[in-house]
Amino acid sequence: MTEMWDVAVVGAGPAGAAAALRVLRLDPAARVLLVDAATFPRDKTCGDGIAAGVFDLLAALGLPDLARLGAAVPRLHVRSPWGAVVDRSCARPNRVVPRAVLDHALVSACLERGARVRRQRVRRIEVRRDHVVLDGDTAARTVVGADGANSVVRRSLGVPSRPRSTAVAVRGYTTQDPVVPDALHIAFAEGRRPAYAWSFPLAGGGANVGYGIFDGTAPTSRDELLAGLATHLPGQDLDPATVRGHRLPLSTGARAQPDGRVLLAGDAAALVNPLTGEGIFDAVASGVLAGQAALCGAAAGAVHRAALRRCFGRHHRHTAALSRLMRSPRFVHAAVLAAARDQRVFDTVVEVGLERGTAAPRVLAAIGAAFVGPARGVAPRPRRHRPLEPATT
Ligand SMILES: Cc1cc2nc3c(=O)[nH]c(=O)nc-3n(C[C@H](O)[C@H](O)[C@H](O)COP(=O)(O)OP(=O)(O)OC[C@H]3O[C@@H](n4cnc5c(N)ncnc54)[C@H](O)[C@@H]3O)c2cc1C
Repeated sequence: MTEMWDVAVVGAGPAGAAAALRVLRLDPAARVLLVDAATFPRDKTCGDGIAAGVFDLLAALGLPDLARLGAAVPRLHVRSPWGAVVDRSCARPNRVVPRAVLDHALVSACLERGARVRRQRVRRIEVRRDHVVLDGDTAARTVVGADGANSVVRRSLGVPSRPRSTAVAVRGYTTQDPVVPDALHIAFAEGRRPAYAWSFPLAGGGANVGYGIFDGTAPTSRDELLAGLATHLPGQDLDPATVRGHRLPLSTGARAQPDGRVLLAGDAAALVNPLTGEGIFDAVASGVLAGQAALCGAAAGAVHRAALRRCFGRHHRHTAALSRLMRSPRFVHAAVLAAARDQRVFDTVVEVGLERGTAAPRVLAAIGAAFVGPARGVAPRPRRHRPLEPATT
């Protein structure tokens, strides 16, 4: 055993970087090790849509300038499974920043503030009475597991993953114009499994384009995802080298944070929004909480669990209920109609889908009215899309 770190963070994505930055903000002299299997800059399979609230969290961590990494995208343009459209300006603009850029900036900030960054794929975690050992040779008082959807740290704690609560999505980059300029474009699919295609404009031209299916009730193949993309956003000429799929552990899944010296954050803690697949806000927010708890020694796990519950508990209850309703294309259609009719409904839906908002009764009533009422102001219901083929793998 070589040296004893105060905090070791496994995974240097947004959750891990936020945890390291929070520790160093609370105690600039803390000895923080940030370990990642990759060398930065590195790509991460993602839509690159960064919610406005992420930049607030990063500013509070002492990084007020990161919004400059991506141009503001003022509008959200959403098409329901039955063809209704809402196209409105968001209360605050979201941004599109390739993860190769955002995550590199975060890791650089960690280095500047005194974290040590090491390339290493962690395979083994042993919890001892007063410290934790990584791979037999690195010891830390506490460990933050921020190692993403396939977290080794999560598995080492015996926290089960719940396949039914896992989304899967594929994304690629195109140099073609985005489907809707200046807007995050989302096109919901019609079918029994909630799914949508997206086209997010990149600063300097081109778009991040993808398709995700938001339940794991049946295995989903890459071909099925690409077919869904072709159906809902036809004609996208993707750079084949950038077409990749990945899992998203949704917050409707098992989210256990045991007592003790090992903490989970971000995808490792299964925090992705089940309505939208947004996970970066949750990653940074939970990373901040993990960084705070990491200085609490043996009490860290209990402190972190309580903080996660206070921060996300209500939001998760609301999104879990809404995700069940989203299995109905008619509900999604009604939500789009209600948001198109009323800016306040739109703003709430954005907060619930992209940050940690909750659905006020007034908003549910507006969606309910759209659900039962005539589809005012909407073209006749368009032709139904052919249902997705059953999964092959
Ligand atoms: C196709 C797709 C599109 C998405 N689009 C969006 C979007 O537009 N907006 C949004 O907010 N969210 C989106 N998400 C979700 C978002 O990508 C994740 O929620 C987010 O990256 C979680 O951050 P994280 O820091 O927890 O994990 P990650 O970003 O996955 O980082 C984990 C890090 O851990 C490292 N690591 C893994 N295993 C080990 C190990 N054993 N040892 C050491 N290091 C390890 C990895 O190299 C990686 O750097 C999307 C996800 C997918 C799959």
